[in-house]
Amino acid sequence: MNLKDYFQKAIEEGFALGAINFSNMESLQGIVEASMKARSPMIISVSESALKYMGSYCYALTKSAKQIYPHLFLHLDHGKSFEVCKEAVDNGFDSVMIDGSALKYEDNISITKKVCDYAHKKGVFVEGELGQIKGIEDNTSASEHIYTDPALAKDFVMKTKVDSLAIAIGTSHGAYKYSGKQTLRFDILEEIERALPNFPLVLHGASTVEQSEVQLFNQYGGKLEKANGIPRELIEKAVTKHNIVKINTDTDIRIALTSQVRKVLNENKSEFDPRKYLGAGREEIKKVVLDKIYNLFHSNDKI
Ligand SMILES: [Zn+2]
Repeated sequence: MNLKDYFQKAIEEGFALGAINFSNMESLQGIVEASMKARSPMIISVSESALKYMGSYCYALTKSAKQIYPHLFLHLDHGKSFEVCKEAVDNGFDSVMIDGSALKYEDNISITKKVCDYAHKKGVFVEGELGQIKGIEDNTSASEHIYTDPALAKDFVMKTKVDSLAIAIGTSHGAYKYSGKQTLRFDILEEIERALPNFPLVLHGASTVEQSEVQLFNQYGGKLEKANGIPRELIEKAVTKHNIVKINTDTDIRIALTSQVRKVLNENKSEFDPRKYLGAGREEIKKVVLDKIYNLFHSNDKI
């Protein structure tokens, strides 16, 4: 099954694929091992800056990962230009995101359409974004939410021919998602679904920022004050009751890895074997991803 088949299956059966960001071998291993154990399809996401960090090792690592477990889809997260998306398409990515959300509406349409025209010819899927997702993650930042306009969503999909659409309904990038009430705009989501029936929708900035992980992080000398995420029940509702088929998660993976590195190094001051602290981080990522697959995405046993 290709990604589009999985998205349709996800709409019909009320689950979602995780789209989890990685930036090194250990995070990729943790994500893949969890997916394999749970027999879950998985989107492995690379941001422009993670791609820069890993260089061509990124392609080698993901190629190996797909040989070990073929139910993985390699995805470019927040591509900001046609050139970056083209490079990903040419290097064998299964799908790319063109993020023209900061541009004027007409310009967002034109760049998204250009990427679709190129990618579709090569059988690569394209995700667009409409609205603005608050917060900071790598080279993507916005100071305010601009909720997706349901009327424009339909027009945007028709004109660009995107395969999926990232929408803004109150999720945000980073580890500080709320200062007030922790909620999402399900009313807007429902309007979008009425305008675009059975169309695959994507939630970015959907880490849950588990307080147990934050506590561990802080216990060993870290400082993440008032970090918080999207409540688990809201993610689950978006996945099971709505057409959200892709849940982006980055922050949770970063915190899981780093909290274990902090723990191991603090508990054993003489430790200098990277396998000891990165290995502990890898195990923690696996644990976090398994929890998400079984309890939030419900994508276990779907391959
Ligand atoms: Zn994002």
